Amino acid sequence: MFTPDQARLAHELTTLAAISDAPPPAVTRVVFTDTDLRARTFLKGLCVDAGLVVREDAVGNLFARWVGSAPDVPAVATGSHIDAIPNAGRFDGTVGVLGGLEALRTLAREGFRPARSIELIMFTAEEPTRFGIGCLGSRLLSGALDESAGARLKGPDGRSLDEVRRAAGFDGSLSSVRLPQDSYAAFVELHIEQGPLLEQRGVPIGLVTAIAAPAGLRIVIEGEGGHAGAVLMPDRRDAFLAAAEIALAVEAAARSTGSADTVGTVGVCEVFPGAVNSVPSRARIEVDVRDIDEARRDTVLAKIAAATDQIAARRRVSATTETLNADPPARSAPSIVDAVEAACLERGVTVDRMISRAYHDTLFMARIAPAGMVFIPCRGGVSHRPDEHASPEAIALGTAVLAGTLARLSRAGT
Ligand SMILES: [Zn+2]
Repeated sequence: MFTPDQARLAHELTTLAAISDAPPPAVTRVVFTDTDLRARTFLKGLCVDAGLVVREDAVGNLFARWVGSAPDVPAVATGSHIDAIPNAGRFDGTVGVLGGLEALRTLAREGFRPARSIELIMFTAEEPTRFGIGCLGSRLLSGALDESAGARLKGPDGRSLDEVRRAAGFDGSLSSVRLPQDSYAAFVELHIEQGPLLEQRGVPIGLVTAIAAPAGLRIVIEGEGGHAGAVLMPDRRDAFLAAAEIALAVEAAARSTGSADTVGTVGVCEVFPGAVNSVPSRARIEVDVRDIDEARRDTVLAKIAAATDQIAARRRVSATTETLNADPPARSAPSIVDAVEAACLERGVTVDRMISRAYHDTLFMARIAPAGMVFIPCRGGVSHRPDEHASPEAIALGTAVLAGTLARLSRAGT
């Protein structure tokens, strides 16, 4: 029975949280900022201290490998991300990275020797903050995003991904990031639930059986601006009002499936020129639609597209829709589900099966490896906020289950 060093792990999480562009308890750590680079240096130091073999790829994904006694067979991997959206909390992603590292250290401390190598992965930019696309590192690594699409990505400051990553010291071609299909025998990600179910049920461990399919749209509406006093109502082609109607159409389309698993959100609305006495000439909205059923999600996207056309025609504005991403859902591999369940059983820990409604790097790792996720409860289900909280005990238990799972997977089939 593996016992992680709970105090050390809690301390490392606190240290990492202090590497932030927002005052505590908030965490802001956007990819390839100086702050992100300092956090990477901290993590790399811990990996080297743990005796792991560290490698970084051209987009800054970090791999820290504990070489097993059968180094030539595919490795077992775990990991998550350390980037954080503006004004976020300290546990999203970091629990899976530092907890993953502590799982490896725990196994080593307690005399376990892996057959398959066990690797910790820190994925670059799980959050879409800088480049508008989530899971940048794992998308490139799994081939879900190709090199040319990656090279076209730009941040809000107009700097390209290539420029920014090279300035951060990550050279080489983006095509070199992609890994072959058989690189890993298994991938398991430890993460806070970011929802309230485990806490409500009093269950310490969630076993993710599927990750919902996300889609993102950017809709730009062009109308005609003018003086808010001088342009009379019948003559207006107000871009914002069209955007507002489209936002309501997103809600209606998401509700129309009748399933609680379908969700639609408009979380971004930018109005140009943004003056109180000026009719909006342009509006940009960003739409997020998710479902565990890909076909059902796609019918929602089709309804949004039809409504957008109809609203634009009626209001005499133009609307251009760009699909930022439309990813299929992922199902956890039975081999991973079994290993997590066995690790929980071994410790006498209750485990509930659940769906992840947020997406994670596992969504993409599942394309190249048998993959799955372990959730731990977080207070009130709150995430992406400064008051995000998971207790040291909950984190240590998740880490212990992860260690047990990795130990099983490392032995399997070698
Ligand atoms: Zn996360």
